[in-house]
Amino acid sequence: MVYVGAMVLLRSERREVDMGISERYLRVADKVAEACVKCGRNPERIKIIAVSKTVGLSGVRQAIEAGAHSFGENRPEQLMEKAKAFPDNDWNFIGNIQSRQINHIVSSASLIHSLYQLRHAEKISNAAKEMGKVQRVLLEVNVSGEESKSGVAPERAADLLAACNALEGISVCGLMTMAPQGDLKVAASCFSGLRQLGTELRKQLTGDQHAAFAQLSMGMSEDWQVAIEEGATMVRIGRAIFSDAFD
Ligand SMILES: *Cc1c(COP(=O)(O)O)cnc(C)c1O
Repeated sequence: MVYVGAMVLLRSERREVDMGISERYLRVADKVAEACVKCGRNPERIKIIAVSKTVGLSGVRQAIEAGAHSFGENRPEQLMEKAKAFPDNDWNFIGNIQSRQINHIVSSASLIHSLYQLRHAEKISNAAKEMGKVQRVLLEVNVSGEESKSGVAPERAADLLAACNALEGISVCGLMTMAPQGDLKVAASCFSGLRQLGTELRKQLTGDQHAAFAQLSMGMSEDWQVAIEEGATMVRIGRAIFSDAFD
């Protein structure tokens, strides 16, 4: 009995101090670099976005201590609070956009990954203009066509891109997608579909808009390896960094 009690205490202590986040971040960064080399890509061209939505400020701090500098959040309040606490880092909004929260998002996000509705683009552009900034955004594409996934349909992406590029307050920096979970082959074809779409769309752009449109945000804890093979420039990794259940 005494033995079991001691084990339980150790486990809960471990969780309370979030031990392991720094180590897990370093391990992920190593593995990402290794995967890049394996497929002939330069690790410096791939940004790891640490998706910190499940942890508080101390979790973020531990990741920063290990070298993390880009973070992803899906709730505007969390984004604002953490961006304010760690302003020297790069804060990405990756969640569902709601009109009434757009001011909060624009006030803190260096990049919004999850834009797929023109009405939101217009509001983001207006908010950005008022704040004297140009908001960088990615267009979220529903490559797989799963009903549960959000994003613009691939065949409608060109129209959305053109409409967004007509707005002064935003700069479209590329595309984002989420792959269906559970089958890495399916994920790979989803990511390759996003890359091909990006290449097609980029051909239609010129000047600054062409130059800006360079990012592919794809890959999460379970499928970032295939995303890198398929050309991701940003991987959004949450559980593999912040959860000990993922070890
Ligand atoms: C939560 C989340 C992630 C990270 O997912 P993990 O499986 O924990 O790595 C990435 N992208 C989006 C849009 C998310 O909501």
